[in-house]
Amino acid sequence: STAPAGPLANGKPTPATPSDPDKYATVPRQHEAERKRLPIYGARQAILDAIQRNASVVIVGETGSGKTTQIPQFILEADLAKYGGIAVTQPRRVAATSLARRVAEEVGTPLGKRVGYTVRFDDKSSPSTKLKYLTDGMLMREILSDPLLHRYNYILLDEAHERTLRTDILFGMLKEIQQTRRQMCKDRKAQWYRRRVTDEARRGSGPPAEANGTDSDLGEHVVGGAVSTDAAETISASNGQPRFVHELKIIIMSATLDAERFAAYFDHAKILYVAGRQFPVRVYNSLEPQTDYLDAAFVASLQIHTEQGPGDILIFLTGQEEIETLEKLLTDHRALLPRDAADILICPLFAALPPAQQAKVFNPAPPNTRKIILATNIAETSITLPGIRYVLDTGVHKARGYNSKVGIESLLVEPISKSSARQRTGRAGREALGFCYRLYTEDSFMALEEDSVPEILRCNLAAAVLQLKAAGVRDVLRFDYMDRPPKLALLRALEQLYSLAALDDTGALTKLGTWMAEFPLDPCYAKVLYESRALQCTTEIIDIISLLSVDNLFVAPFHKREEANEARNKFISPDGDHLTYLNLLRAYQAVKGDIRWCHENYVNARGIQHALEVRKQLRQVCTRVGMDPNVSCGVDLDRVLQCFVAGFFHQTALLQPDGTYKSVIGSQFVRIHPASTLFNSRREAILFNELVFTTKLYVRGVSAIQANWIPEASPNYLKRGQPKSKPALSS
Ligand code: ADP
Ligand code: MG
Repeated sequence: STAPAGPLANGKPTPATPSDPDKYATVPRQHEAERKRLPIYGARQAILDAIQRNASVVIVGETGSGKTTQIPQFILEADLAKYGGIAVTQPRRVAATSLARRVAEEVGTPLGKRVGYTVRFDDKSSPSTKLKYLTDGMLMREILSDPLLHRYNYILLDEAHERTLRTDILFGMLKEIQQTRRQMCKDRKAQWYRRRVTDEARRGSGPPAEANGTDSDLGEHVVGGAVSTDAAETISASNGQPRFVHELKIIIMSATLDAERFAAYFDHAKILYVAGRQFPVRVYNSLEPQTDYLDAAFVASLQIHTEQGPGDILIFLTGQEEIETLEKLLTDHRALLPRDAADILICPLFAALPPAQQAKVFNPAPPNTRKIILATNIAETSITLPGIRYVLDTGVHKARGYNSKVGIESLLVEPISKSSARQRTGRAGREALGFCYRLYTEDSFMALEEDSVPEILRCNLAAAVLQLKAAGVRDVLRFDYMDRPPKLALLRALEQLYSLAALDDTGALTKLGTWMAEFPLDPCYAKVLYESRALQCTTEIIDIISLLSVDNLFVAPFHKREEANEARNKFISPDGDHLTYLNLLRAYQAVKGDIRWCHENYVNARGIQHALEVRKQLRQVCTRVGMDPNVSCGVDLDRVLQCFVAGFFHQTALLQPDGTYKSVIGSQFVRIHPASTLFNSRREAILFNELVFTTKLYVRGVSAIQANWIPEASPNYLKRGQPKSKPALSS
């Protein structure tokens, strides 16, 4: 068979050839019968028609109906992607890799040839790749090197309902790319028409018939002998080489019914609903609130196994650690099952799972065995598992989002939305009547948010703007947001980034800004971390930022206040909260994380666990960007506080003669919060991480600093304590 001419590499496309699905199959196609049974198969022609007639299409279909795996294949088989490749974006890496692997099998091509994937640090694609699954983040990276994404003819935005910061940024960028390419085609068409008019006039005949208006109304041009109506050749400005311009088709795929919003945003895109097959699911709620959902899931799964009919169990948990804990509990219990009872097969499913293990969840269970799948929310809509009849919903997930305290991404366990709970329920009814056990009360369900709030409205806006700038968006005020943040908030974010020297006078990203964008952190903390390289205290800074991401590191039961205070006194640093936290972590590490020790010292063990997770993640990013996380300052802890001033000079206050503190910016009177170790103390200057307003203005997360550190730390913003005039940031 003939290999296609590298469509994902830039260049001239091959001329159109008649449709022949098997022409690229180099290994046997698989799962043909299964494909034809998917609900989406019946909608094949309607989908093909819609995407030929419209520049943008929204397709809504029940999870498992075949959107992600089939729609790109329909396009391939009908040979619609004549001028470039097909990209399918996924919010999660594990979905991108596992789906590409499956589709390669179905198409009958070795993975990385005609069908491939690209995720960070793992690229299984080649010049012959025509269909590529990739994460949102990777597509954003490709835009940096190929601003109009010339290599793609189709972009499928999958899991659009998740509305992560990255997908929202992508939406806006793709919309603009689509418009630019359309305009370029039109311009070429006009040019071509004018040229023909002149030619014809010279030859003495009348003007040519206007190129037939197609739905997409794009340039007509002769390509490889055939007439194309949706592409035009143009001269690329950069190198003078002819470059092929063609329309970018955008397909938005979603499992939920909020299609109108997406359609309105993408210039009134056509909406298609694909009817799914869904059996009824009986929902049960807990009668009492559960204190430990992991334990509740353990008990409930065994109860289902011993008392209920056949069918696999799917348990939704928040992450790898939980999954491994429950896996161990169930494995230990397996030995205790009665001899005559059916066996259980435990299958974990989370992002970091090796591919061979991932395959296990798709294979049917051996005879007389029930599969128990322990999954994160990737099993909610991204990956459909066969055979599930029972769903255990813990009601929580690790939200991809920003922790409001230090802005770190995707680490906090949070309640899901009602819409997520319904998706989870739906997983039980794909093949037969199913059962869903919600391990929370009906009241808790009623209290859940209807939909999760788009990340751009939840996260720290300075972090979002930094990501936009890093993605190459120059004018963030005029950017076409699906949910636009208030203008004033955007301006404030720009100002903050400028003051941190992440942006220069013209509003462009600086080298430091580019570096900061690598970190899933509130930019203030990213700046602190950056400073730690020069001041050689990266270990300490990572430790403290991790601890600050937790709400309450110390527990103080009401009736044991005094004991708790006394215990806390052991860790107190005279310089304030930051170094106190560091002392606490060192003490915890010295006893190797002993739970009893936590109990005796009124330390929140779960909080520290969370902090250690954040710490692990930060250390990984540091290593990745070439910064050694093990550089420590030893006992010279002044440097640690100096680093904090580098990111928080705008959150500092000076002692006044009357013993109060006045903030350096805004000149407000602030008080040190009673929970701070510096409560009631008088220091020359302080820095704080949080400003809270209760009855008065309090500051929390407070440390003592030297007043002269403040102007030194903020060249772009403060001159002797005064804000510099505001820069022009809007372009
Ligand atoms: P949707 O995107 O509409 O949720 P998909 O295209 O992901 O649907 O799934 C279609 C079908 O393909 C499902 O029945 C699913 O079980 C199956 N499938 C997807 N990936 C795999 C895989 N790696 N192994 C086995 N079956 C898979
Ligand atoms: Mg899908």
